[in-house]
Amino acid sequence: MIRTLFAATLLATAAALPAQFSPQQVASLRDAALNDTYAFDITEGLTTEVGQRMAGTEAEARARAWSVAKLKAMGFANVRVDPFTMPVWVRGAESASILSPFPQKLAIAALGNSASTPPGGLEGELVGFDSLAALEAAPDSAVRGKIVFVSHAMPRTEDGSGYGIFGGPRRQGPGIASRKGAIAIIIRSIGTDYHRNPHTGVMNFPDGVKPIPAGALPLPDSEQVQRILKRATGPVRLRLQLESTKLTNQQSGNVIAEVPGRDPGLPPILVGGHLDSWDLGTGAIDDASGVAIAAAAAKRIMDAGRPLRTIRIVWFGAEEVGLFGGLDYRAKYGKQPHYALIESDFGADRIWKVDSRLGEARKAEAIAIQQALQPLGIVPGALDETEGSDIGPMVADGQPGVALKQDGTRYFDYHHTPDDTLDKIDPVQLRQNVAAWTAVLAILSGGIDPPAELNRRKKR
Ligand code: ZN
Ligand code: ZN
Repeated sequence: MIRTLFAATLLATAAALPAQFSPQQVASLRDAALNDTYAFDITEGLTTEVGQRMAGTEAEARARAWSVAKLKAMGFANVRVDPFTMPVWVRGAESASILSPFPQKLAIAALGNSASTPPGGLEGELVGFDSLAALEAAPDSAVRGKIVFVSHAMPRTEDGSGYGIFGGPRRQGPGIASRKGAIAIIIRSIGTDYHRNPHTGVMNFPDGVKPIPAGALPLPDSEQVQRILKRATGPVRLRLQLESTKLTNQQSGNVIAEVPGRDPGLPPILVGGHLDSWDLGTGAIDDASGVAIAAAAAKRIMDAGRPLRTIRIVWFGAEEVGLFGGLDYRAKYGKQPHYALIESDFGADRIWKVDSRLGEARKAEAIAIQQALQPLGIVPGALDETEGSDIGPMVADGQPGVALKQDGTRYFDYHHTPDDTLDKIDPVQLRQNVAAWTAVLAILSGGIDPPAELNRRKKR
């Protein structure tokens, strides 16, 4: 009875951002989520019934239709697709062989936006560099008319920071090689596994730079090439076939669903991941698990009661090939304030740290989040930092956010390879993610206002 009266008082004074969930309720929602089945169900369904869903293709369109049906079936409101158009690169036949001095086949995959070789491929002399810096320092005469190979030393790290620093050969390498007159480039995959799986990924040629064929070798093949280059007494010749086609104005879109808040005038909380994947695997860790974690946590809050603030689920389209979905969302809604932006796009392994940037006025809320996550083994991180890929442009605009940092130790063993498949998802770690997200959403969606509000509740 007292509870009912209290709830009525809360509704009447919604503008004061009253607490919806007490710390005890947050804890019980969090702990119940350790038995979550929604996230695995979404991850399994999307990767099984759709599989790979390359941005802008009919496969991604099927993924959108699957997602709309799934989110409606889960009971979310305002389920819709925000469409946009984009250019699409489509992989064709690929192969690579050393012709001399030690003839042999290599495993290879083209990088997204690679130029196509002529049908059947091209041949050329291979010139190797141990790093992007070494390629940059080389005189054009050492590269002109040749096929460039670039290695690097990406380490395995928990926070995945190697990807930013050592991703240069993929992101900038093709442009630098082309500017120096190379006819093609192959790189050591931006990855950490010693399987013969190449890691694809996007790159772009700067304006005015002629696109050339660009591919990635698995780590074993990459080190084989280094040994061959070192041992050869004459030129090393390579045959390279990286065929592809480019289409303009293809359809993609963001899938959006909501848990409507009690006060629709308040800024929404955006939770999401990206729906598209690369074409080599089935996009389980990148990023079916991410969209699944976000939706599972929102579903658990919805089942617990109507939150004060709207939770908006966004399954972004076309992230992999250039953040098209994130930029489209920002163009349409980015001027509106959001209460927080949260994105999951780093696999499904456990969350180990929480960063946030909610602003000085909301420090108590940020501390409440840190405290609620500690029982899950999550360490408190920065209070002035947040990040994400699709939400990145809006984070840069200054919108507040929370970053739940996942363990990336094994992420780059599978990332953008044929090995990104459902069996790589550890259900126990996936559920820890859902528990952490549920706790964060419970705090943010109710607008907990400690300590005054909580003390008042205790007295009652
Ligand atoms: Zn991703
Ligand atoms: Zn990716």
